[in-house]
Amino acid sequence: PVVTRIAPSPTGYMHIGTARTALFNWLYARGRGGKFLLRIEDTDRERSTPEATAAIETGMRWLGLDWDGEAVSQAAQAERHAEVARALLESGHAYKCFATQEEIAAFREAARAEGRSTLYRSPWRDAEPASHPDAPYAIRIKAPLDGQTVIADEVQGDVTIRNDQLDDMILLRSDGTPTYMLAVVVDDHDMGVTHVIRGDDHLNNAARQMLVYHGMGWDVPVWAHIPLILGPDGKKLSKRHGATGVEEYQKMGYPAAGMRNYLTRLGWSHGDDEVFSDAQAREWFDLDGITKSAARLDFKKLDHICGQQIAMAEDAALLQEIEAFLAVTGQPALTEPQREGMLSGMYCLKERAKNLPELLDKAHFVLTSRPIEPDEKAAKALASVSDGILAELTPQLQNASWTRDELESAVAQVAEAHGQKLGKLAGPLRAVLSGRAVSPSIFDMMLVLGRDETLARLNDAAT
Ligand code: GLU
Repeated sequence: PVVTRIAPSPTGYMHIGTARTALFNWLYARGRGGKFLLRIEDTDRERSTPEATAAIETGMRWLGLDWDGEAVSQAAQAERHAEVARALLESGHAYKCFATQEEIAAFREAARAEGRSTLYRSPWRDAEPASHPDAPYAIRIKAPLDGQTVIADEVQGDVTIRNDQLDDMILLRSDGTPTYMLAVVVDDHDMGVTHVIRGDDHLNNAARQMLVYHGMGWDVPVWAHIPLILGPDGKKLSKRHGATGVEEYQKMGYPAAGMRNYLTRLGWSHGDDEVFSDAQAREWFDLDGITKSAARLDFKKLDHICGQQIAMAEDAALLQEIEAFLAVTGQPALTEPQREGMLSGMYCLKERAKNLPELLDKAHFVLTSRPIEPDEKAAKALASVSDGILAELTPQLQNASWTRDELESAVAQVAEAHGQKLGKLAGPLRAVLSGRAVSPSIFDMMLVLGRDETLARLNDAAT
């Protein structure tokens, strides 16, 4: 069975690249009946605050990326990591290195000065450590000195690394703490991870991590190193391109389904399919579709996909998402009548809204209440119609059965009686019903508002 994971370091927020990697792992597992795990790589004690961990979990939850079981804390496994380092020592795949920080620093400085490789070769690799029984030591892996290591990567193909470029990396520091390089491998092994899908900035690490797998006689997982996300200009993604944190996108009002869809397409493709459901994504996602070149963030495409996802969303789910959006952005919660209004109007509100603020803007006519204050443009539209015409609508509408057809013909009749096109009345009527010059169609608004509220707004405007 497939087991994937996302292993973020708590940096205080969930980076969009981490979110995309998480999404790929989640899709891969969920599409295959596998497990998707979360491990917090919290070995940097200073940065690893509960808030930083919470930011990751919140980001994951918002994106709908559910993980199996409890999130694993890497720091909590330190004892186990040390145990593996000692096992490698015993089996001869690692050795005790008594070199001090100063000695290593001096070596590097000399190497730099002489233009030699700064790759540190510990003199303790082949020395008898017995002479230093009580001195502090680090445990280093015994890396091969020649030949090459091939990483069979599902995305990059076979990647060959010359072994003389691999140093004898430290597994356990002299203070007894494990290194990241050791911890990742032990945790992935212990968690039963079968597929490691992660950023290609870890490709070189894979060659070094392989030494630990081999030393322990463990199965190497399937690797898939995915290209990073770049800014629209092809440069490394950074703040100046716009938001890099997932929660910023949430606060801007992008719908989670749209974000998922967009991020799935960011560096992965399935023919020409651009907009798809979660079920389709799960069914289609594979490692073959991952592109080898870095993907660029494209905000236009994000908008387009989000608009399509809003239109496709279920009304009740969309309302829930809107309420969550209002809450995270510190806006007042909807009242019960507003909720009901939004729900009955959702069918038209979700058309052509690229994000939740746009949708809420269209919903102004249900969120506002009488007396409706027309804005400047709406006031102009109201002034353009001769007095009395709107008042004539009242008896017509009073008798109409509240269907789109009848509403249309009622308004058309009044317009005709004054020798005008229906369109001439639409602007003023829109102003009366919404207080705006831009809104959903007047008939949709009448249908959503209902007879009493529509007549009351007309009446307010006439007096
Ligand atoms: N903590 C690493 C990172 O955030 C993850 C490494 C991995 O996925 O193996 O980049």
